[in-house]
Amino acid sequence: MAELNAFQMAQAQFDRVAKQLKLKPEVCEVLRWPLREFSFRIPVRMDDGSLRVFQGYRVQHNDARGPNKGGIRFAANETFDTVRALATWMTWKCAVADIPLGGGKGGIVVDPATLSTGEKERLCRGWVDVMWKNIGPRNDVPAPDVGTTPQMMGWMMDEYSKLTGEYTPGVFTGKPLGGGGSQGRTEATGYGVIYCVREAMKHLKMDSKKCSAAIQGFGNVAQYAAIGFVEMLGGKVVCVSCWDRNDKKAYTYSKEGGIDPRFLLSIVDQYGTIDKAKAQKAGYTLEPGDAWISKDVEVLIPAALEGQVNAETVKKISSKVKIVAEGANGPCTPEADEYFQKNGIFDIPDFLCNAGGVTCSYFESVQNDMNFYWTKEEVLEKLDTKMTSAFHAVLDMSKKEKVYMRDAAYMVAIDRVVKAMELRGWV
Ligand code: GLU
Repeated sequence: MAELNAFQMAQAQFDRVAKQLKLKPEVCEVLRWPLREFSFRIPVRMDDGSLRVFQGYRVQHNDARGPNKGGIRFAANETFDTVRALATWMTWKCAVADIPLGGGKGGIVVDPATLSTGEKERLCRGWVDVMWKNIGPRNDVPAPDVGTTPQMMGWMMDEYSKLTGEYTPGVFTGKPLGGGGSQGRTEATGYGVIYCVREAMKHLKMDSKKCSAAIQGFGNVAQYAAIGFVEMLGGKVVCVSCWDRNDKKAYTYSKEGGIDPRFLLSIVDQYGTIDKAKAQKAGYTLEPGDAWISKDVEVLIPAALEGQVNAETVKKISSKVKIVAEGANGPCTPEADEYFQKNGIFDIPDFLCNAGGVTCSYFESVQNDMNFYWTKEEVLEKLDTKMTSAFHAVLDMSKKEKVYMRDAAYMVAIDRVVKAMELRGWV
């Protein structure tokens, strides 16, 4: 069977659970597809005076539970279908985290590393110039994702505020601190992954101090997952694998005794490329990009891109692995899922595991509405409470229905979205 694309995968996952839940066909018809989709062109004046036209997207999957919510990716291989898939997963993510928001996602087909700062700013503003009538704190709130940064959210929020004539910080989240951003947002997704791993370890009666992890990626999610694994759980991270944009390939960075994530954080650029020379000087070994997956560890954290653990790569997983914590969106294909189930690997599905980012985004929009800001400790404590209760809602469902964690997460999420649609008289 040909590998499914990301959106076909999202639909296949939904269909499976919809069948188990015996959802009415008309309800499935609403949920299998996004409610609204935007595909548009963004003309941008480049530094050399030429005009370049970029392809932009925004997909609003479902807003029954509240305004659409989800990031904007700047990626060279972005397609309508990747954005659709990611928007769909955002609906389930917000529902499983039990925050009053729906699902959306946006994108621009571009490698941001090829743009100057000025070009990036004009492209961000251009995206808002097209979309501003269809976003807003009460209908769709974008945020950062792969290839986008807090600074970009600051520019986008500024453009929206100018167009509407009102300072509107709550239209974008993931903004910089001092520019309407929330304490803890930078750490939120990675720490959220670790709160889930901590709960999974308690459930499986594992001692985190005796455990090690291998991580794929070294962007925002992976960085703070690595820090959290070491500093909160007292475990060891044996390696991180990440893309090198200069060499156009990935490397796995490992170190005897475990990596020091804060050191690596000090030598990584804003696109997640580690300075190889500095790493080697500090005693790091460089292996091929896929070496991370076959490490003898208890925990694997794929925190890069979708489709990374698939029919082929899943066979390389060590028999020691007990937990897979999906930091990325859609990193494991249905074939990988099957393998996990057969081999008794406890999977923490993406839209539960990485819900910390959007949960903190929700806190950010609440603070923007109040115009009153919490301390980092308050934010992280609230985040821990939300993530822990989301994890246990899914675990309880998995025990009650005797289903695998991903299906249980879908059951919790779909049930909540369908209820909201019923209460609003949509179905
Ligand atoms: N891009 C993040 C995600 O995939 C965060 C979305 C948000 O904060 O709205 O969950």
